[in-house]
Amino acid sequence: MVNYIGVAGLRTLLQRMGVAPFIAALAEEIEADYRRWDQFEKSARLASHSDVGVIELMPTSDGAQYGFKYVNGHPKNTDLGLLTVMAFGVLADVETGRPVLLSELTLTTALRTAAMSALAARWMARPDCRRMALIGNGSQSEFQAIAFHHMLGVRELVLYDVDGGATAKLMHNLAQLPTLADLRVTRADSVAEAVRGADIVTTVTADKRNAIILTPDMIEPGMHINGVGGDCPGKTELHKDILLRPDVRVFVEYEPQSRIEGEIQQMPDDFAVTEFADVVRTGVSARRTAEEVTLFDSVGFALEDFSALRYLNRLAAEHPQAVRQIDLIPEVEDPKDLFGGTLGAAVKGKARLRRVA
Ligand code: NAD
Repeated sequence: MVNYIGVAGLRTLLQRMGVAPFIAALAEEIEADYRRWDQFEKSARLASHSDVGVIELMPTSDGAQYGFKYVNGHPKNTDLGLLTVMAFGVLADVETGRPVLLSELTLTTALRTAAMSALAARWMARPDCRRMALIGNGSQSEFQAIAFHHMLGVRELVLYDVDGGATAKLMHNLAQLPTLADLRVTRADSVAEAVRGADIVTTVTADKRNAIILTPDMIEPGMHINGVGGDCPGKTELHKDILLRPDVRVFVEYEPQSRIEGEIQQMPDDFAVTEFADVVRTGVSARRTAEEVTLFDSVGFALEDFSALRYLNRLAAEHPQAVRQIDLIPEVEDPKDLFGGTLGAAVKGKARLRRVA
């Protein structure tokens, strides 16, 4: 039998552990895996594009286990009552190829993206960051707010979204959380107003075009930009002149994938970037001065989902209430008798019934 964690199972885990501690623990898993970067099989994800969105497969392996995620990105889905991003994934043993876990990864993607954002910011942002602008207040936004409050000590959040309803929803959801009682949340009337005086700027908008959410005049010395929403060819959030500023340093997850999908798709091939693995393996802060502007050009890499799947599978052993066993793979007495071990009796029974009739 194969472990299955669905949305209800993950909800059980999060109720037991708390969302913020879950994100922090997941960030540790992700960081540990980035430290052993060389052990991973790496490739840019396989993307199937259409006019309205993208469907992607994201595989990786560390030689002992193999994981993949199926994920889509359809910014207009919300008009149809559907989520923009939906995902599921599988973890398997490399030795036998046997799947060990099938899991929901929609909620998990929001958790792991927030974990990765806050983890990157811990290495790149100034240590005294307290104020964050959060641009794009859709599905990912609560998770980003919780992660930055818990892991970075952000205590002031300024929100902006072109859809005022999304901002109202985010404010309502954050106000329900007792753990965020010391977080001051306000809304701005424009991106420029939201980012003014911010230590960290998170952009997590969804629009299938080269949008310009941030312009160079909005960038202040010492800012950390956590650019999350530009994650597909032709889908960016930053004016390219921001990347060209001499005080801006750009960090990516896996360079070959980010050159296709990240903000740096707007740049020539020799534009200098640093991979996150090189930052954590060096062990010193990525930031060289308090005035430097750091940009985490996030697109999401398969390793982060692999870390999440492995973490979930470990939690499955500790919290059996959150897990179901499903017959995803046949179990047969004679491994050379797939037919007899699965269909034999059923098919024979049907044939006998037909004869009697
Ligand atoms: P969502 O559709 O739920 O929310 C997106 C929000 O952005 C909406 O509320 C929309 O009104 C707002 N928006 C669109 N254009 C805007 C603009 N010009 N200014 C301000 N707000 C604007 O989507 P989501 O699930 O929250 O995902 C957000 C983005 O993050 C998507 O682009 C998605 O592809 C990306 N994403 C990236 C990663 C990663 O690892 N980098 C992971 C998950 C999602």
